[in-house]
Amino acid sequence: MGKHILVLAETKGGALRNVSLEAIAAARQISGDGQVTAAVFGPDSEQYTEELIQHGADKVVVVKNEELKQYTTDGYRQALLQVIEQLNPDGVLMGHTSQGKDVSPRIAAKLGVGLISDVTAIELDGETPVFTRPIYSGKAFAKKKIKDGLIVATIRPNNIKPLEKDESRIMEVEELQVEIKDLRTVVKEVVSKTSGTVDLAEASIIVSGGRGVKSADGFKPLYELADVLGAAVGASRGACDAGYCDYALQIGQTGKVVTPDLYIACGISGAIQHLAGMSNSKVIVAINKDPEAEIFKVADYGIVGDLFEVVPMLTEEFKKE
Ligand code: FAD
Repeated sequence: MGKHILVLAETKGGALRNVSLEAIAAARQISGDGQVTAAVFGPDSEQYTEELIQHGADKVVVVKNEELKQYTTDGYRQALLQVIEQLNPDGVLMGHTSQGKDVSPRIAAKLGVGLISDVTAIELDGETPVFTRPIYSGKAFAKKKIKDGLIVATIRPNNIKPLEKDESRIMEVEELQVEIKDLRTVVKEVVSKTSGTVDLAEASIIVSGGRGVKSADGFKPLYELADVLGAAVGASRGACDAGYCDYALQIGQTGKVVTPDLYIACGISGAIQHLAGMSNSKVIVAINKDPEAEIFKVADYGIVGDLFEVVPMLTEEFKKE
């Protein structure tokens, strides 16, 4: 007997976040021959239905309430609880994003059920899903299952592949009503510090700079390489602390955790707290003038040299591609 899995789809800047499609792929894995329903919140939610269906959802529920135009903890918590009550799913999945990290524990706590966060892989033990998640800052992995009750889990971006788009899938859309009461916070304005650039958490390529870039201007060659590669720019805390870039770029234990296909570390020594945020990247390239730098221990490819010479050379070569 299959399961009914609900996916809370997340949007950003008028587009679905890729991790929502990854969560649908995860839900398909768990549901067996059951159903995958995606929920999207906000007045413009209907525009995302086609993409969600084509990537594997059987049905999309839209909740067009004006109060859900912007994410608020309180609004989304209330809306999601009411959607769960109306649909009675066996599991709820969402991205391990700021939003998912914020709302998922509140849902699990309110319903008195277990939560498995930051899932990087799923396998089945019979019909029971077994979730893999990193522990000890990515140095080990734990496998977990929820024995009974609703399954609530968040999916780490860039680990589970979205399903291929299938335009022949049949659309099923339903509008649900929810009542949002006594909102304690109202979002007046969103000022994005990284608008127009590739989202760091979901980027498939990241060019990252450390204290070795030496100044804010030193990041320029990294941005040029990132432009050519369609990559996002990240940073070590060393670079952020030195004022070379915004803390929104920080990767590591106290920054963002990323798992891109390619991570290019420029002038980063490889402190354990930085590795906690990027060591699970699929391919790591390190550029550092110190051959003894710790970063080379986790790198698949190491370039010993001055980043101000190496990075522009890489940019020129990739431009030729
Ligand atoms: P450095 O360690 O100073 O390394 C700079 C590197 O650049 C050196 O290896 C040097 O050889 C190289 N270099 C210099 N010039 C060049 C050049 N021209 N070309 C090539 N290479 C060059 N750090 C994080 O990154 N993320 C975190 O989330 C984080 N959280 C932390 C939490 C706690 C509680 C603590 C205590 C620390 C945390 N840190 C974090 C800080 C961490 O310990 C390191 O201090 C920091 O990562 C160092 O940054 P860095 O590698 O850029 O600088």
